[in-house]
Amino acid sequence: MTERTFSILKPDATRRNITGKINAVIEGAGLRIVGQRRIRLTEAQAKTFYEVHKERPFYGELVSQMTAEPVVVQVLEGDNAVAKYREVMGATNPEQAAEGTIRKLFALSIGENSVHGSDSLDNAKLEIAQFFTDADIPG
Ligand code: ADP
Ligand code: MG
Repeated sequence: MTERTFSILKPDATRRNITGKINAVIEGAGLRIVGQRRIRLTEAQAKTFYEVHKERPFYGELVSQMTAEPVVVQVLEGDNAVAKYREVMGATNPEQAAEGTIRKLFALSIGENSVHGSDSLDNAKLEIAQFFTDADIPG
């Protein structure tokens, strides 16, 4: 089934000027970038976005990393896009990520792991709605 998922190219990726290389992996996997914008996340946006992790020890560092430099927010479309992008991203910890995945290829660490991708179709819809309107995604 054709789905949409939400992606973020994180500050470690924009800082190293590798967003094009990551987009090539995304497109090579058959996912279409139907919405894309470079923004600076506010602290409030980052806190809300990662609210499920607020009790975790890395939460403060995560919020400060995500707001320190620009990110690229994206909407990706394709067959089974949510699960497919999770597969293309690879495991959260790059040491455990499979060969050829974005995190294996590019991540610096478990925290600075280059990309975010929605973990369910429901979350994808909520996350997309935080950053994009229908008018941002031309059919
Ligand atoms: P994923 O991004 O693979 O869905 P999580 O939702 O578990 O992973 O975590 C969200 C983000 O928080 C991760 O992508 C990573 O940037 C950061 N993170 C997760 N676990 C750790 C950790 N143990 N130490 C530092 N940062 C972490
Ligand atoms: Mg997650």
